[in-house]
Amino acid sequence: MTHEDYMRQAIDLARECLTGGPHRSPAERVRWGEEGQRNERAFAADGSEGYAACPNDVPVGCVVVSPDGTIIGRGRNRREQANRATAHAEVEAINEACAALGSWRLEGCALYVTLEPCPMCAGAIINARIAELYFGAREGKSGCCGSILNLFCEPFNHHPRVYGPLLEEECRAPLTEFFQNLRKI
Ligand SMILES: [Zn+2]
Repeated sequence: MTHEDYMRQAIDLARECLTGGPHRSPAERVRWGEEGQRNERAFAADGSEGYAACPNDVPVGCVVVSPDGTIIGRGRNRREQANRATAHAEVEAINEACAALGSWRLEGCALYVTLEPCPMCAGAIINARIAELYFGAREGKSGCCGSILNLFCEPFNHHPRVYGPLLEEECRAPLTEFFQNLRKI
């Protein structure tokens, strides 16, 4: 898979915020932290399969890819759905990848996210020792790959290589759709 292919996987996850997600097995629900969260908004309206869209969650998606090219972590922004300030796409994907590898060190891994990371997620990317970061659209209000500041140029103990914007227009499309829908309400 190419860098664009991985980013499109992240875009699909961002779109789940708008459209709802596919059916997940109980094990996947545990991994996604959705198990036991009997908040109706987390489940499809008919209760049968899939997950409902969360109309208040800004659509951002993220995947973490291992050095052999396998996607080992997936995340989408679920801050409103989970009522958790830290439930950003990157943190969710990093948590899943750490669980998959049984380690907090994601050395050699690449992270693809549809929106320029905020300070919390940039910090999580550094702490997880992510080797390469690919971001989609720029974020002028909180972006830490140069928009507000460039956290990755600071003298921390780890420096991921940063690439972006990648597929900026495709990454911005779900965000544009989201904010257009908000204005209609
Ligand atoms: Zn973030």
